[in-house]
Amino acid sequence: MGSPLTRSLAMLDPRSSPDAYEEFLAVLRRGGAIAYPAETMYGLGAIGPDRENEARLNRMKRRDPASPLIYLTDGWLRCASLCADPRGAGRALAERFWPGPLTIVLPRSDGNGTVAFRQPALPFVHRWIRDLDSLLSSTSANRSGEPPAFTERSVLHSFETELDAIVLDGDFTPRGAPSTIVRIEKSGYTILREGSIPEAQIHTT
Ligand code: AMP
Ligand code: MG
Repeated sequence: MGSPLTRSLAMLDPRSSPDAYEEFLAVLRRGGAIAYPAETMYGLGAIGPDRENEARLNRMKRRDPASPLIYLTDGWLRCASLCADPRGAGRALAERFWPGPLTIVLPRSDGNGTVAFRQPALPFVHRWIRDLDSLLSSTSANRSGEPPAFTERSVLHSFETELDAIVLDGDFTPRGAPSTIVRIEKSGYTILREGSIPEAQIHTT
């Protein structure tokens, strides 16, 4: 969105000012890229699914434009049509662990590979998703191979010229391990990354 000459980077706290919030939603609706303080680190986000937005987030990270991103959701219902859900296992895990640090990877409903979802424990993000009536594509706000970013300063250091908006870190303090990632298969499941939810707590029907 926008040429580098005309882009202005909005720095705002959409949690506190209604005007700033409307501006922030408008940036996302225009296909803009944002950075926001997620549960354990800063994330990059854009409206999704959207191939262009996703390619752009990957370009910002300097990695393959087809690398998979996760979709942030405000609940199971919003992602259900995009995935097949063998045995209802995805829904059952979502009901047990969302909102929370469990990323659920499922077969795509079109049969074309897999898709990953998470409902973060961040009420302000649920509000964005509800007000936009859209999932958000998301990934960590660091260049590929670099460490995660915990402050707006370090996000701006990498992405100042490429971002359309950044949510200020306010009282954010990074905590905890990243999400546990589970892939649901036709029969059974695989833990792709053990994060803050221990593998022993995960069992699918
Ligand atoms: P994070 O946002 O750090 O919790 O990471 C989410 C993780 O999910 C990243 O490591 C992605 O590579 C991974 N991921 C996203 N989509 C998929 C997918 N379809 N299959 C497997 N892993 C995925
Ligand atoms: Mg990452």
